[in-house]
Parts: sequence; structure tokens; C-alpha cells
Amino acid sequence: MKSGISSEAHRAGLKVDQDRLWNSLLDMAQIGARDDGGVCRHALSSEDIEARALLIGWAKQRGYQVSVDAAANLWVRRSGKNDDLEPVVAGSHMDSQPAGGKFDGAYGVLAAFEALVAMDDAGVNTRRPVDLVAWTNEEGGRFDRGCTGSSVWSGAMAVADYLDDVGIDGVRLGDALLSTLAATPDLPMRPDTWTAHAYVEPHIEQGPVLEAKSIPIAAVTSIQGVRWMNVMIRGKGSHAGTTPFAVRKDAFQAAVRSIDALNRLMDDPDDVTRFTVGRVVLDPNSPNTVPDSAMFTIDFRHPDKQVLEDKAAQIEPLIRQAASPCTVEIVPTTTMDPTPFPEQIVGGIERAAERLGLQSIRLPSGAFHDALYAAMACPSGMIFIPCRDGLSHHPDEWAEPADCAAGARVLTATLVDLANS
Ligand SMILES: [Zn+2]
Repeated sequence: MKSGISSEAHRAGLKVDQDRLWNSLLDMAQIGARDDGGVCRHALSSEDIEARALLIGWAKQRGYQVSVDAAANLWVRRSGKNDDLEPVVAGSHMDSQPAGGKFDGAYGVLAAFEALVAMDDAGVNTRRPVDLVAWTNEEGGRFDRGCTGSSVWSGAMAVADYLDDVGIDGVRLGDALLSTLAATPDLPMRPDTWTAHAYVEPHIEQGPVLEAKSIPIAAVTSIQGVRWMNVMIRGKGSHAGTTPFAVRKDAFQAAVRSIDALNRLMDDPDDVTRFTVGRVVLDPNSPNTVPDSAMFTIDFRHPDKQVLEDKAAQIEPLIRQAASPCTVEIVPTTTMDPTPFPEQIVGGIERAAERLGLQSIRLPSGAFHDALYAAMACPSGMIFIPCRDGLSHHPDEWAEPADCAAGARVLTATLVDLANS
């Protein structure tokens, strides 16, 4: 061991082939390619089936074992010395947003595939097997509850919970799942849930920090927590020309005062807090009527559970005070605590980067990922690489070939040591 990783892990990391990985990304991006350079590859669609076939073909050429489970998560195993041991898992998702890019999700799957091949090329024989996973429906672009596959694998949800979800094209998830599974009838079925030794997910940052600092790697410390809520303010609709201010109950003015108070609550000199009002719905929404009601949404995120709870507890009293004399009803829609990743994984990623001569920093993830669910089932972590202008969920999404390779090197070295532990 030198600088905290094994020489075998270092050797395998160096076997990552930048051109091979880059070509696999470009090949994958042709499936569901849009005219504007982006990708539209909806979960469980014909494009998804084609993407799976491409990956399965590559895996079989290399002699890896391919399997699938009832949630259509696709698994590619590189055997270890003892395949009865719990495997180390790496991957991400291959579905995209409707106007998505080439890298969100696909990068994590193909970096994991490159890691398996790099281990072959380095002649590494790990103690545990290493399993690549392509999770089903992370994005929620077609069936709007995302992270379908990883939530089932983690045990948080069951396949049956999702079967009656209806996609934007009117197709039932259960039917799309059947046709996807029917496309690979020869694949062995794995159980829905089982225990892994560890999970590592490479992903583009989808934010601007790494690019701005010219640093190729982030060891992700956590996925920040969220509080989403709908705020309904009820006043009294009345004539805009005749109603004196003294007797008005203007729901929209009450919403404006509330949002102003929330902006002050969420003010953060460190710029870590995320606070967004993304939707306002007025009723009756008429230019000549004092609004009867105003609904607005709150999207509040923070990586520190204490901060999240403290500020969330102040939201309702603050709005009640600001919205008076209107009445207020607040309905939480999503409550998720921050998911910290264990030091064992975060530190391992950092040590791998250092030994490979790649600069790294620690960052929390602002977005949800499959790793959120994987972390419920086993020690998990994520590796971020820079993306241009921090842009994602957009056809112009872009990552540099050298950064893609850097992330795959760190992944490979991290996996080798985890698979030998
Ligand atoms: Zn993603």
C-alpha cells in the first residue's frame, strides 16, 4: 500500500483507456439521438431496449455474466475469486430526460464498464465480484416517480408499487416493464433485493463548481436533504376598482409578503442553502379581481440536517404572520433528510484520486441520484466529474474526454480495493 491504495488498484486505474471510454459514450449517445445533439431515451422505451442490447453485446464479448431483475435493472458481473461473496456494485442509469444530454446517467454506466475492462487489461483478479448496474427509470421523464429500479433494489419500494403508474405516452409501467424484459428472454433473473458490499456511482456534477476550480474529481460527501411543500393562501376575491385596501384580503399580496419573509430566512452568505419558488397559481387569475387564493411551491434544500430542520420549522409561523389577514395551509409534498456517504467510501475515492495524480475536492450533491437509495442498502458513494457550464438535463450537456477518463480511473482503483476488502 502506498498513499492508502494498493498497487494493484493503481495499476488497474492506469489501464483505463480514454478513447475506448469516449467512443462507448458516443456510440451510446446515438441511441435516442436528437437533432440538436441531445438524447431522448425514455425508461423502458424501444430506445432503452436498444441501449440495453448494446451494453449486453459489449458485456458478452468480454465474457461477463449478464442478468436482470424484476424491476429490469440490468446487471453485468465481472467474477471475483469467490463469487459467493457480496459483490461491489458500480453504475448509474441509461434513461434520459426528454431533452437530455449524452452524459447524465450514461457516463456512470459506461465508466463502470470501462472499469471492468481496465481490470481485465491489468490482469487483476479481485476477491469479490464486481457488478455493473444500469438502474431502471432514474429520471422520471416518462414515468414520473424516478429512481424506480434503485428504490426496489434497496427494499424501499416494491415492483408492484409502480406497475400501475402511467407514462406521459399513456403506457402503463407494468406493460413497458414486460416488453423490456421480453426483449432479453435469455437473461437469468436475479432476486429483486440482495446485499452488496458497497456501491459507487460516477456522474457528471450537473453544477459549476469543479469546472470553475479546474478540478477533475469530487468525492461526494452526501446528497442534500429536501423539504418540498405547497403553500395555499386564501383571501377574499373582490372588485379591483371598488374594494378599499383597508378591507381587502388579497391572497397574492399575502403570498408576496410571505416569499419576501422566506427570502430573508433563507439568506445564506455561504450560498449553500437552495430555496426556490417555482410555481405560483392564482385564482381567479383575472386582472380586475383581487385574488381569492394564491398557491405557491417551496423547494428548500440543504446538506446539513440541523439547518434543514431549523429553517423548515420556521417556515409556517413566518408565513402565517406575513400572510395575515389571509389564512394559510401548508402541505408537505416531499420530506427527505440528507444522505451522508460513509468516510470509508469518500476517503477511498480521495485516496485513489491522489495516488493517480488527480486533484480532488469534497462536494455534496445538489441533485437526487440512485445512490440515495443504494445508500439505504449498503455503504455507498459518488464520484463527480466536471461538466461544461455546469449544464445538465439539456442537449448541450458536455464533459471533456480527459475528465471522463479521470473519473473512470478513480472509479476503477476504488472498486479494486473495495472488491479486495
Ligand atoms: Zn443522472
